[in-house]
Amino acid sequence: MKRIADSHIHIRFFEFEHALKLFSDIAECGVTDAAILSLPYYGVIANLAAVYFKMTNKDLDLRAFGGFHTVDQYAEIPPEVQLEALIKLGIDGFKIMSCPTMRRYCGIGIDDEYYEKMFALLEREGLPVNFHVADPEEFWDEGGSYADPSFASKKQLCDEALRVAKRHPNLKIIFAHFFFLSNFPEEAERIMEEYPNVYFDLTPGTEMYYNFDKNIEYWRGFFKKYKNRLLFGTDANANKDCNKELEALVYRKLTEKTDYFTQNCYGKDFVIRGLELDEETADAIAYGNYFEIFGKEKKPVNLELFYEYCERVLHDLEAMEGDPYQENRVKIVPKLDIYPSKQVSLDFLRRVLKEK
Ligand SMILES: [Zn+2]
Repeated sequence: MKRIADSHIHIRFFEFEHALKLFSDIAECGVTDAAILSLPYYGVIANLAAVYFKMTNKDLDLRAFGGFHTVDQYAEIPPEVQLEALIKLGIDGFKIMSCPTMRRYCGIGIDDEYYEKMFALLEREGLPVNFHVADPEEFWDEGGSYADPSFASKKQLCDEALRVAKRHPNLKIIFAHFFFLSNFPEEAERIMEEYPNVYFDLTPGTEMYYNFDKNIEYWRGFFKKYKNRLLFGTDANANKDCNKELEALVYRKLTEKTDYFTQNCYGKDFVIRGLELDEETADAIAYGNYFEIFGKEKKPVNLELFYEYCERVLHDLEAMEGDPYQENRVKIVPKLDIYPSKQVSLDFLRRVLKEK
């Protein structure tokens, strides 16, 4: 039976109608459950928005993965203190971004002592972490986004993340985008064997779908062998208009025959091969593992705290002149330069508080 739990969606830029459309669109594709991963560098309300939709949306059973603030007025609060507040609020997991721009901005590795208490707390609480580390290797090529030597190498970023995984053997870490290893079957296998607490999600990186095709029989075996370590994910996002196609692309990759099939997505045709997985394997990856890894039950939301945080952030934004943090955001995502982050956050909070 086709049923999907999508472990990796976003609601960038927190505009209500777009978020609601995302949820109803993917529900039409057979998605019943999904985890919203918060990225507070897009906007100060990321965590509150994820928790809000978890509380209120009826199309999907949503979970909220929190993220710590790195660029805004709360960035100086130690990460474990931020996490503690989010746990009280009722998050179901945590999202960590260790891409090259974030690494350069922060100036320290994710394995630095600064983050230790945060990881220890996540491990103690049994909260799963969706962890984006590095990017596809070609981005470091000459002329690529990370060719500049001020960026850490792919290897360095991966080593830092793996040190965290080793140090916290009971912390469930889901490396997003297959840990960008679709060109490195031996390394993927080594990590599965050496790190029993590590999982991969299948969120495109569309390069991954072509890379698998070069060695489809190998990967078919890998997917069967590690069927309990792989999680369905799409990066479906409130600011995209191909969310249904994304769900179809990832699902069909699992189930179609190893012959070629065509799926339109991101405005182009993907002509790729399926992994032709048996029903049990496909169902574990597309659905069952979500509950095995994230837990059967969602965490309850502390309503009083939710509204208290909304009031506080609204107050802080209203007291703030202009948006002094916008230039920090752009250091992490250059194309954010035209995005009115502060205004969208204000609109969101005013609407939520009015509904109360
Ligand atoms: Zn993502």
